[in-house]
Parts: sequence; structure tokens; C-alpha cells
Amino acid sequence: MTRLSGWGRTPVAECRVRKARSEADVARAVAEGPMIARGNGRSYGDPAMSPGLTLDMRGMDRFLAFDAETGILVTEAGALLSDVIETFLPRGWFPFVTPGTKFVTIGGAIAADVHGKNHHGDGSFRACVEWVDVMEADGSVTRVTQDDDTGRFGTICGAMGLSGVILRAAIRLRPVESAWIVQETIPVQTVEAAVDAFEARLDVPYSVAWIDCSSGPPTLGRSLVMLGRHARADELPTSKRKAPFKVARPRKLAVPVDFPSFALNRLSVRAFNALYYRMGARNAGETLVDWDRYFYPLDAISGWNRIYGRRGFYQFQCALPLPTAREGLERLLTDISATGLASFLSVLKRFGPDDSPLSFPCEGYTLALDFPAGARSLALLERLDRITLEHGGRFYLAKDARMTGETARAADPRLAAFRDLRQARGWAGHFVSHQSERLGL
Ligand SMILES: Cc1cc2nc3c(=O)[nH]c(=O)nc-3n(C[C@H](O)[C@H](O)[C@H](O)COP(=O)(O)OP(=O)(O)OC[C@H]3O[C@@H](n4cnc5c(N)ncnc54)[C@H](O)[C@@H]3O)c2cc1C
Repeated sequence: MTRLSGWGRTPVAECRVRKARSEADVARAVAEGPMIARGNGRSYGDPAMSPGLTLDMRGMDRFLAFDAETGILVTEAGALLSDVIETFLPRGWFPFVTPGTKFVTIGGAIAADVHGKNHHGDGSFRACVEWVDVMEADGSVTRVTQDDDTGRFGTICGAMGLSGVILRAAIRLRPVESAWIVQETIPVQTVEAAVDAFEARLDVPYSVAWIDCSSGPPTLGRSLVMLGRHARADELPTSKRKAPFKVARPRKLAVPVDFPSFALNRLSVRAFNALYYRMGARNAGETLVDWDRYFYPLDAISGWNRIYGRRGFYQFQCALPLPTAREGLERLLTDISATGLASFLSVLKRFGPDDSPLSFPCEGYTLALDFPAGARSLALLERLDRITLEHGGRFYLAKDARMTGETARAADPRLAAFRDLRQARGWAGHFVSHQSERLGL
């Protein structure tokens, strides 16, 4: 048995874990059932842990084919997005959609149907998935294409591994001329102004705002809105133009030990946030930053999840529909700033239209932030759940570690239909995670 958790380090469970290296290994695990596939464990809570068998897919990480004309990569599901970037960025290709860490597997990215800073224009990860090979509950393998008219594609993307094991996939990469991003930083004093900034610049491919959640009125939700687009080769300074894909390796920082719980308190978070805001505001306007700094600032600090100490932390991420988003964000941020429990890592993004059957995004805004595990945070999170529900919002299963099934179903009626489908298709007996049990899926 192995002690497992997600990235938030809570909950922890003793799990029976096996590594898959081939399709036959997956078939054996599925036949034994109940089981769940695990990618790189970057989801925060318990979706990649099973009370039955947890099948580690990292052993299936080979690239199988690449078409340099179309940018379509066929890869096994356990390959990391970081491997994709390392191999293909020097040839002029970048992931079409990427979450805020590059250390996710392709299987995990499809199963959670992850979103990036470009959802408003490009949609979520499934937009670049041409097909997936999925192992069904009876051990057969189906190739499911994006335009498949049976609806099966929509029951894989965002299904959190609960409808089969993804073995391999064909994903379309994006052609880019350089490894550089033209970043524009816009400091704003309130969340209302942040939303205005997003709405005014929907034509920019990437956008994200870092929010200072410890700041109350009159600067509730003061933020740094960071827009970005891939730099063309002819925009680079001459020194970089000769090797447009070459960037200096970032200095690797690491958190070597679990921080004691007193290290993160209201004062230290407040001070950090104020400093971060001031430094960001000083760099307002356009700058050229490399892809790693723009997309993955947190990856530069390995093991950053240890700063919350041994007890771990919860992440809260909701999506609020466009018509209620402004009011909902104000309510959420008012409550968060009043408790003083806010984290440094609070992020706001704009979602574009999305009508997929299971995926998290809906047109509007998504707010994500961390709280140290503990009773006060749990009480706050329940209030945030209620505010989200009152504004017609929903929650991201890839970040969830503690919601009740009742809350999840109230927020997202699609889950009740998915539960029925799992029963009807025989998935419920085979693909089971701690999260699916907790939420009654
Ligand atoms: C720092 C950080 C930033 C993040 N930023 C974002 C973000 O901006 N946007 C976003 O959308 N997400 C974000 N995430 C969440 C992360 O992208 C997702 O949780 C992703 O699913 C993790 O991939 P993984 O390979 O680690 O999968 P795991 O965490 O191991 O598993 C996640 C889910 O995928 C399923 N799964 C994994 N592999 C397979 C497979 N082969 N077949 C079937 N099911 C499978 C698992 O059963 C589980 O339900 C972030 C996470 C971190 C730690």
C-alpha cells in the first residue's frame, strides 16, 4: 500500500498502486476493477486515487508519431506536457491549450479537460484532441474522434477518468515563431476594473489576472491583469532573433521542507501580496518574457505545495456565468478578504462559450485560490460554495477535495445525468475514485 494524495496533500489515503507500461497492463487492471487511472497527481484532491486499484499511467509515455505539416502529435497518455514542450518547441510547436503547470500528463489533461489562459478564444484542451483511444469497462479499445456523433467524446473529456482509461491520443499543437511571449501588464484597483480590462481585450489570445485577495474595499480585488501573445520572430531583439527558440534555463528553486503552520499567516500573506502588486505595477506595460515565466511561474519552485505545511491546503475554483460574474466575484472577494485567510495564489480568468457535456468551463469568469487546510478554511469554503450556488456557478472537480455530493449536484445538474450514464454503461463498477465515491457519481 502507498500513501497517496493530490497536489493539495489532503486528503491522504493508503492506496494499492500499480504502474502500467503497456495496453495489456491496463487491460488486466480494468478486468480486476474497481480502479482509476492516475496521471502525474497534479489534481488537488482525491480524483486520482481509488479505494480499489490506482493505476499509474506514467509508464506509458512514448511519443508515437508526429506530422510536421499539421502539428498533430500521437502520444501515449502518460507523457507529460513538459516533454511535449521540450521536444517540439525547438521545432516551432507549442501546446494549443495548457494549464498553469506543465507537469500534467496528456491523459490527465483530457480527463479533466483542462483550460488555459486562452479559453475565451480557443476553448479547453479537447479543442486540440483529434482522437483518443480509450479502454472500455469490458477491456475493448475504442478510437473516439472529436467529431464522433455518438456523444462518446463528450463523456471522456472532463469525466475525470470515470468512463474509461485513455491509452493514447492525437493532439494538435500550435505553430509558433519563437519561445517568447509579448506580455502586457495592466494594474487595476478593483475586481470590477479587472473584469472591464478582460472585456476590453478579448481579442488578445492569452489573459489572466493575479488578484490580491487580502485587499479589502476600496481596493477589493486589486489585480495585475496579464495579457499575452506569442512573439513573432521579427519582433525579437536582434540578439534573440538568431535563435528564437532558445531561452535561458530558469534557476531552479525548491521548498526543501514542510513550512511550519505559523509561517503563513495574515501578515505574511498581506505583505507578500502588497509587494507582488507593487513590483508588478512597476513593470506595467509591454515586456518580452519567455514561455516558462509567462505560462508556468509556479513550476519554477519545485515542491511549492510544501509552503502550506504538512496539513496541506484546499483549492477553491468556481466558474460564474457572465451575467452574474461581477456581483458574484465581489461577494466572494468580500468574504475572503474579511477572513484574512486568502492565499498568494489567486487567479482570475475569462472563459468563452462552452457547451461540452461534462467539462467545467461556462462562459464567464473563473476564480481559483488556495487556503491552508483547517476548520476556519472549511467554514469559509462552505460560504464560498453557497455564494457560487446563489450566482448559478459551478465547481472544478480537478481542484476539489472536500465538496459534498449535494453541493456538486446542485451546482451542476449534468452530474446526476452522468451518474445514471455510469450505471447504464457499467462504468460505475469499474472506474471508481475516492472523489467519485464522495460525490456519489
Ligand atoms: C500549479 C497548478 C496549476 C494548475 N493550473 C490549471 C489551470 O490553469 N487549468 C486547469 O484546467 N487545471 C489546472 N491545474 C490542474 C491540472 O491541470 C489538472 O488537475 C490535471 O488533470 C492534472 O493532470 P495529471 O496528469 O497530474 O492528472 P492526475 O491529477 O493524476 O489525474 C487527474 C484526473 O485525470 C484522470 N486521469 C489521468 N490520467 C488518465 C488516463 N490516462 N485515462 C483516464 N483518466 C485519467 C484521473 O483519474 C483523475 O480523475 C493546475 C494544477 C496545478 C498543480
